[in-house]
Amino acid sequence: MKGFAMLGIGRVGWIEKEKPVCGPLDALVEPIAVSPCTSDIHTVWEGAIGDRHDMILGHEAVGRVVEVGSLVKDFKPGDRVIVPAITPDWASLQAQGGYSMHSGGMLAGWKFSNFKDGVFGELFHVNEADGNLALLPDSLDPAAAVMLSDMVPTGLHGVELADVQFGDTVCVIGIGPVGLMSVAGAAIRGASRLFAVGSRPNCVELAKEYGATDIINYRDGDIVKQVMELTKGQGVDRVVIAGGDNDTFAQAIDMLKPGGRIGNVNYLGSGDFVKIPRVEWGCGMGHKTIAGGLMPGGRLRMEKLASLMETGRLDPGKMLTHRFEGFENMEKALMLMKDKPKDLIKPVVII
Ligand code: NDP
Ligand code: ZN
Repeated sequence: MKGFAMLGIGRVGWIEKEKPVCGPLDALVEPIAVSPCTSDIHTVWEGAIGDRHDMILGHEAVGRVVEVGSLVKDFKPGDRVIVPAITPDWASLQAQGGYSMHSGGMLAGWKFSNFKDGVFGELFHVNEADGNLALLPDSLDPAAAVMLSDMVPTGLHGVELADVQFGDTVCVIGIGPVGLMSVAGAAIRGASRLFAVGSRPNCVELAKEYGATDIINYRDGDIVKQVMELTKGQGVDRVVIAGGDNDTFAQAIDMLKPGGRIGNVNYLGSGDFVKIPRVEWGCGMGHKTIAGGLMPGGRLRMEKLASLMETGRLDPGKMLTHRFEGFENMEKALMLMKDKPKDLIKPVVII
């Protein structure tokens, strides 16, 4: 079978591979629609997960089941399915302990385009189909539903990590597709004043549509100063970090009220340490909690998030700025994600 792959750090191309083998609990799926992710860019061009050779890329897909193992109960060939980016081993002790995303080791629930071939192939393998797939509701546009693989669950997980409550003042730092879903999630969770930090005009417009009350442009000066001025020196109850760099942590702590909470889903790609400003962190006694995590995955979560789309509470399809038709366009879509033109939020490839 054919797939679009990472050949080595900084190199991509089309390759031929053996068809994956379907174990008794697993499924083989062919993609219906896929999307490249900022993480694919970190993987290939920054060597974020180390070197990989001839590994098919991609972890965001909806697809059609082609084959199921003998022990799979709830899915059959022909079913249209949502495929989460994170596909844990549900029998692992980590999953039993509530941390499915770390099943088998830290971050090891992330298998596609990390420990095995991803979804940019003619076929891909899904472990534990009953636990990891969800039926795609007929009413959902497959292109929009691809956002359920990663952007929706990751953005919303940032909101869960920050534990946003009714009436909280919230700042979402970064409003690419992940942060936009954090803005939408914080609004659904009952945020009152909702600051969104970014600069690209179409992201800013969409952040407002998803519920941001104030836009902060980090290119206009220190975001802490801007938030402090707008909150009359009070700061915010919650911060979700979905963009920025290593210094963003320090800014998040600075703008957080004592007792506040930071939810980080941003990938920290460089440096050996994360900066925590000592005094602003209350010299260690400020009750400013930092939580950072990978989204948990799993069928139940996928079904629940799909129901947010079915009921019209969440429309991630608005983030799709570039649509391609045809398998061969995976390459174009990935390169678009790498180059990030100003009008890009998220590309999708319909196969
Ligand atoms: P984007 O690159 O599309 O968005 C990044 C956002 O951060 C943009 O709004 C950008 O602003 C903003 N930004 C950039 N620099 C700064 C700065 N110095 N201060 C404040 N804001 C800044 O990324 P994605 O939305 O695709 O992904 C966000 C992050 O989430 C990535 O690191 C990705 O790897 C990670 N991720 C994590 C996952 C998880 O499970 N934890 C899963 C998927 C992704 P501008 O408007 O100027 O572009
Ligand atoms: Zn992704």
